Amino acid sequence: MANGIHLTRARLIDGTGAPPLEPATVVIERGRVMRIGASGESAPPTSSHIDLAGKTLMPGLVDAHAHVTSFDMPSPLKGQEAIAPEVKHHFIATGLRRMVRMGITTVRDVGAFGDDLLHARQAVRLGAIPGPRILACGRIVAATSAGGRHFDGMYREADGPDEMRKATREQFRRGADFIKLMTTGARSCELEDSSPAQITRAEIATIVEEAHRMGYRVAAHCEGLDGTRLAIEEGADTIEHGLELHRAPDLLDELARSERVLVPTLSCFFDISEHRAAQWPPRLVELAKRQREEAHRTVEAARRAGVPLAMGFDSQPHGRSALELVRLCRAGLTPMEGIVAGTATGARACGIDADVGRVAPNQAADLIVIDGDPLADPELLLDERRIWLVMQSGRAVAGAALETELARLPGPAPGTDPVPALAGRPISPPE
Ligand SMILES: [Zn+2]
Repeated sequence: MANGIHLTRARLIDGTGAPPLEPATVVIERGRVMRIGASGESAPPTSSHIDLAGKTLMPGLVDAHAHVTSFDMPSPLKGQEAIAPEVKHHFIATGLRRMVRMGITTVRDVGAFGDDLLHARQAVRLGAIPGPRILACGRIVAATSAGGRHFDGMYREADGPDEMRKATREQFRRGADFIKLMTTGARSCELEDSSPAQITRAEIATIVEEAHRMGYRVAAHCEGLDGTRLAIEEGADTIEHGLELHRAPDLLDELARSERVLVPTLSCFFDISEHRAAQWPPRLVELAKRQREEAHRTVEAARRAGVPLAMGFDSQPHGRSALELVRLCRAGLTPMEGIVAGTATGARACGIDADVGRVAPNQAADLIVIDGDPLADPELLLDERRIWLVMQSGRAVAGAALETELARLPGPAPGTDPVPALAGRPISPPE
């Protein structure tokens, strides 16, 4: 008889929004949660037994809107060695490892360059690198557009229903887990106007029909309201950004009625309007400020309407996804609602809620243990010292509990090379 791992005396937040259960025991067998009970029970002597008194056990975080292959690479100075394109793969691995360390056990990537992300997904599956469970969209299906040139390698441009069908099928062929499409342009590309619908009703209807018939879900990039309306009316499964929805209560009601998920991505607007404003043209900074206000109004209106909301960071640096959860709370969600957005509803956005996103019997044991109470302070989810343990399918993969004090020795000073090259050549050049 398998004895499994017993996590005892925890404060349990199960991801559904139900009040915490405390004290609770969670028993894990064969990578899944087997049962949940009262903590008084004693564990069989042969099993692993972890006492979580004072700590909170909850589902691993799900980032429902990420771009794993988008990050700032180091830029060499003039005269320094150029960085080979292949080095990017190692930085992708670093970002994925960072996500796991910060408790993100599932990530839905909604747009990546080339096939880099698909390769990373395979590397994670094969155990070559640590990483979250990755859901990939292949290329983003979009109309021929300035964005297609700006984000070269990330889009599959197509025009007319037949081409859209082929573009969609190409993503199945590539190994996509779901389909991502653009209903409008992107705010982050100066050549595009993100207000009008960039796709026709017939085009989006064809993509959705093809994807659904083959068993794939559809995520729709939506900024302006016309494109958002097309996505909702034609059956897209998740609305990404959707910041103008506060102007259309009928569409929010329809999302709530059909239990489709809105991923507000508040953080991406902060990125352009605040933290990284110096890197963007003033016009896009002003647009992001306006959109940030609208996105906040939409979060409030969507919450009132009962629309399921999911945490999607859509930002950098990798591993900081819980900042979106914190921002959703600042925008009006309770900490418990924020946690639901970052777990169960995120898993629903991904279409894998039967397996992840909750702590419940038969769910995959993707779990995190927080040293403290994230309901009292959601920002604990951003503090790596308080992320005590991260489990993937019942295996302890990261967390402060696995690191010794020595692991906290200071690293290289900011702005320096972690491993500087030596000045001389190993072998003296010939005379
Ligand atoms: Zn995005």
